[in-house]
Order: sequence, then C-alpha cells, then structure tokens
Amino acid sequence: MINLILFGKPGSGKGTQAEFVKQKYDLVHISTGDVFRYNISKNTDLGVLAKSYMDKGDLVPDEVTIKMLEAEVEKFNDAKGFIFDGFPRTTTQAKILDDFLDSKRMSISMTIALEVDEGLLIDRLINRGRDSGRADDQDRSKIQNRFDEYNNKTAPLISFYKNQNKFYEIDGVGEINDISSRIFETIDNNIK
Ligand code: AMP
Repeated sequence: MINLILFGKPGSGKGTQAEFVKQKYDLVHISTGDVFRYNISKNTDLGVLAKSYMDKGDLVPDEVTIKMLEAEVEKFNDAKGFIFDGFPRTTTQAKILDDFLDSKRMSISMTIALEVDEGLLIDRLINRGRDSGRADDQDRSKIQNRFDEYNNKTAPLISFYKNQNKFYEIDGVGEINDISSRIFETIDNNIK
C-alpha cells in the first residue's frame, strides 16, 4: 500500500499533481480543501463553520479537520492507498494521522514537498482566483495570511517527517508534466 502526503505552500500545485499521481498509482485522492469547499457549496454545518475560517485564510481548527479526514478515509475500505493533499497542516494533525493509520495497520509511505518561491505563488494564486472565483485566492492579504499560517503551523512538519526519514523535496517550478515526472521518479526510487 502506498500512502503519500503531497506537501507545499498554497498554490504549489498539490491538487494538480495529486490527480496525476492518483491515476498512475491507482490511489484515492483526499483534498481537505476540496472537501471543505464541497461542504460550503452544500451549505452543511461543517461548510458554514469551515467557511468562517477559510474566508480569512485561517486554518480550520484541528478537531474539525481531523474528524472530517478520518470520515473520508473510512469511506474507502478497499483503497490501494491514499494521497493526502492539504493534510496534515499542523503537528497535531500529523501525530493523529500517524495514530489513526496505525490503528488501521497502515502508515505514511512518504511525504513529497513541492518547492516554489512565495513570489511566484502569489502570481499563480491570483490567476487561479481570477479563473475559479475562489475568494481566498483573490485577496493579497488573505494569501499572505495563508503563507503565515503555513510558515508558523505547517512548516514544522518538515522536520517531523524528516525525523521519520519520509521527507522528499522536489522543484515545483516548470512544466506540469516535468513536475509529475520528478514526483514519479521520487516515488519509484524511494518507495519501500
Ligand atoms: P487548500 O485548498 O488546501 O488550499 O485549502 C483551503 C483552505 O481550507 C485552507 O486555507 C484552510 O482554511 C482550509 N484547510 C484545508 N485543509 C486544512 C487542514 N488540513 N487544516 C486546517 N485547515 C485546512
């Protein structure tokens, strides 16, 4: 079983690349941002709660996010493996994910980080916001807040996964296909 975390700042291409990885390795792709956005579109209680954080570019509280993630994983009992995209984003989430997977005799195989400079990411996010209408992609102060959330709360996960010898960084700048090839190579060369 392959269980991957796609890691990186907002706009680094996690969602785009997760789709290619999903196809190639026949994995289930879980994007916590997508699940929240789906709930917002259906106006569920979870959606209303998540929106109040997402609109500001803040992280949704751990308890809510973890409960939602676990429910998503439980939906796919016969999965060959998972790609976690946008999760975990805090040390608490990462620790609970390890325990949760352990309880199911599963574990994270590797974490692949897409490395892109913030300056380039701002341009990408603004363009994406123009196309998609995503509120959190359209406002520079919200984007900056999302980077701050990443730098304060998510970046510590780099050492968390390095300590487990599961952290791999790739250059996230270039043609989409070239970036996919770098990810496939990293997986194929390092998967145990
Ligand atoms: P994304 O689509 O991954 O960029 O996520 C969009 C927004 O959803 C984030 O800015 C957060 O507000 C929220 N979100 C997504 N995943 C998480 C998570 N693992 N923990 C907390 N908030 C999250």
